[in-house]
Amino acid sequence: MSIPGFTLAYSGKVRDLYVPTDETLATTSRLLVVASDRVSAFDHVLEPGIPGKGELLTSLSLWWFDTLTGIPNHLLGDQADVPAEVRGRGMLVKPLDMFPVECVVRGYLSGSGWLEYQRESSVCGVPLPAGLSNGDRLPEPIYTPAFKAELGEHDENITFERTVELVGAPVATALRDLSLEIYRRAAALALASGVILADTKFEFGADRTTGEITLADEVLTSDSSRYWDAAAYDSGDRTASFDKQIVRNWLAANWDTDPDSLTAGPPPVLPAEIVERTAARYRELLTRLTS
Ligand code: ATP
Ligand code: MG
Repeated sequence: MSIPGFTLAYSGKVRDLYVPTDETLATTSRLLVVASDRVSAFDHVLEPGIPGKGELLTSLSLWWFDTLTGIPNHLLGDQADVPAEVRGRGMLVKPLDMFPVECVVRGYLSGSGWLEYQRESSVCGVPLPAGLSNGDRLPEPIYTPAFKAELGEHDENITFERTVELVGAPVATALRDLSLEIYRRAAALALASGVILADTKFEFGADRTTGEITLADEVLTSDSSRYWDAAAYDSGDRTASFDKQIVRNWLAANWDTDPDSLTAGPPPVLPAEIVERTAARYRELLTRLTS
């Protein structure tokens, strides 16, 4: 889409990054991050989008940035300057030198963590007790970083030692400690609203002038996090999630999701019912957490 005064600099699977026209990513002092309604699963962008998703996830990010007092973040002071064309879906942020580490924290065993645990009894080199089941709460939240893959590639789980090689020991340690601290604070707040924060992913960058480690990207949204309904979880139902699990489950049942499959073809179009149920879950999460 065209936004007066801005030029598209980069398109991710879900979000688009704009810079003021006549500036570049390297020199600009403000970036416009626009969340689209696109939804991705198994590294594919699906059709159609989820109506309202960009706005709901942006509202959730802004609420968390605001709630996480004391954690330096990339929001610029005046969000009122977001162009009218993308109001509600756009965030004006400070451009950072991003660290190539996806800072994942897991409080519960699920997803790729569960797959790895079954093979190795550990996740990203973190040893775990024997006998855990899918969806179990971990004794302590664990930090399980991933290497940020190029567009279209799948992020790769790495050990903490590997992050030390990538960004140096002081930064690697700070990323881990900050991630665990934010996860703990957010999980406690969510639980007070009847929502379990099972796991989440943060991205950080360095301030280009001061070097300060700064929380960036989207934060604690249903795209970057796994949220479960606590009441359903306590009664034994571990499928009641507030993220795109509905989409993932439908796709897994109706398509060959194996990334190496040569016969799968493009993913099928999502049925209207799946789209609406997903949108409703995103809306409910925002309401529960913020009201
Ligand atoms: P995906 O998340 O779908 O795997 P992606 O991360 O490439 O792909 P998006 O998340 O849609 O795509 O795009 C956001 C991009 O902006 C990411 O690459 C993220 O690292 C980057 N980013 C976020 N905040 C900042 C910032 N303050 N300064 C510079 N880059 C940022
Ligand atoms: Mg991303």
